[in-house]
Amino acid sequence: ANVDSGAPTIFDKIIAKEIPSTIVYEDEKVLAFRDINPQAPVHVLVIPKFRDGLTQLGKAEARHEEILGHLLYASKIVAEKEGILDGFRVVINSGPTACQSVYHLHLHVLGGRQMKWPPG
Ligand code: 5GP
Repeated sequence: ANVDSGAPTIFDKIIAKEIPSTIVYEDEKVLAFRDINPQAPVHVLVIPKFRDGLTQLGKAEARHEEILGHLLYASKIVAEKEGILDGFRVVINSGPTACQSVYHLHLHVLGGRQMKWPPG
């Protein structure tokens, strides 16, 4: 389902622990777990536990400001826990042209290798 239908996604099952994931950080608002198809030695997804309409960043509204800030700060905590504070990247793909595939907002935290600025 590569369209933003608003339907529940696989991440709801991960939050509910109905399907397994490797959790690296969790608090009352966010869950961080390893990407199943890692693009770097460290590749963690940070997601809100309550999607509240945040299928993609492009749908963010003023009420989401606090959770957006919390997700970004949680990404720093993940980078610290993973030992990549010297250099890491946080990516949000928003919408089909950006190749978003799961319509539950998520931040990719990537590190452990030299990053290259996207040439494409
Ligand atoms: P997007 O392309 O939407 O920005 O990123 C979605 C990410 O979710 C992809 O990197 C993909 O590998 C990851 N992903 C999709 N399904 C699962 C899953 O069931 N478990 C985990 N851990 N990651 C998943």
